[in-house]
Amino acid sequence: MASSYALITVSPLSSTPNNKYIHKLSSFSNKTPIFTSINFSRCCKFPGPSIPIWNYAKSFNLSAFSSLNGNCADDDDNFIVVNFYRFVFVENPQDEVSKHISFMQGRDIHGRIYLNEQGINAQYSGPSKDALAYVEWVKQDHKFSDILVQISPAINGHAFPKLKLRYKPSLVQLEEGTSHLALVDPSMRATPLTPSEWRSKLETVNKIDNLSSTMNTTKSILLDVRNGYEWDVGHFDGAQRPDVDSFRSTSFGLSETETEVIDEDPLATVDKENTDILMYCTGGIRCDVYSTILRQQGFKRLYTLKGGVSHYLENEGSNGWVGNLFVFDSRLSLPPSTYKPEISADASGKKREAPHSFAKCYICGSQVSELRHRNCANLDCNLLFLCCLKCVDDFRGCCCTKCTAAARLRPVLIGHQRYQKWHKYRDVESKSGSRLNPVT
Ligand SMILES: [Zn+2]
Ligand SMILES: [Zn+2]
Repeated sequence: MASSYALITVSPLSSTPNNKYIHKLSSFSNKTPIFTSINFSRCCKFPGPSIPIWNYAKSFNLSAFSSLNGNCADDDDNFIVVNFYRFVFVENPQDEVSKHISFMQGRDIHGRIYLNEQGINAQYSGPSKDALAYVEWVKQDHKFSDILVQISPAINGHAFPKLKLRYKPSLVQLEEGTSHLALVDPSMRATPLTPSEWRSKLETVNKIDNLSSTMNTTKSILLDVRNGYEWDVGHFDGAQRPDVDSFRSTSFGLSETETEVIDEDPLATVDKENTDILMYCTGGIRCDVYSTILRQQGFKRLYTLKGGVSHYLENEGSNGWVGNLFVFDSRLSLPPSTYKPEISADASGKKREAPHSFAKCYICGSQVSELRHRNCANLDCNLLFLCCLKCVDDFRGCCCTKCTAAARLRPVLIGHQRYQKWHKYRDVESKSGSRLNPVT
């Protein structure tokens, strides 16, 4: 097997990775972020022996990427995942969509890019040349010039199956839509805290919590504005598991308006005037939306983590965070070291084992070794669940005994793969005439 080299995506975005930057890796610092992402794959462009990349991998604990079968790529074929959003008034969103579509001609970008009168929400993957060209082009428009761009390494080429670039009435999914919300008015949202402000606020909160746990005088609430299954692979220490399966049905703080008080609602009985509500989500967009709703409900002291958890991990490492970060693309979940590679390596370069005893197998309740969901092998269930290796084996990739007897079963996925379209499996099955045997 060919030796491995690191591909470095550098900031500012227009720079091209080259040997010089690889050598600069030794001066990697969070104060001067030279590198916005690090991808680990084989590459013929970076010549050999003078660059002992494997040592870099050890120093910076890039082992998360060492199992990649990255295609031999030149600089520009280094695939990355880019996320950004911006709430701002867009006068003619349909025209805007057309402009973006024409920019994409001849560029290899997959993902979800939505526009409407309230702004843009983009998550996409592509070779760095194309992926960065698009965001640079978007930023040339003054409406979008100050977007916070988040970049992370793709694991195995594209992280999305295709490009969806279109007008969408709601930039995020909410039961009643978002067009009635004052999303473009920053004063209606939570106060954004930088990652370091968030960290010190959390540390203060935890101290107060410890002091006052017996006196019941807690004046702040840490709110995970994501889904329960996202919390399951990683969350801020002290955050309650959200009892929701999709953001569209998030209802924190709304139970007072119902006749029944919802037990799981952490905001049900809080003092709206005097309680600090600290909200976080993956990239910040859900908090911006949800804080607008809470503002309307009369909550006064709302704070959000600017740029979400991904921005936090990039700047503060995993301090206060446990486990991985769930992401809505084919990578499913990323260890904190993806965002800030040096944090989980100690001086000897040895991998520090992150404690994640909170992560349990959905089937048997035992601790899972890998913080990554799988979809139930039963196409008609498709449940996203955490599973221990024994149960993967025993239940053939299904979430329960009933699913193992279902009509449309897919094979057990190995490693970090994702299921493909059903016809891939159906056709194989009809040719061979065989079917997986249900577990008895
Ligand atoms: Zn199990
Ligand atoms: Zn199932």
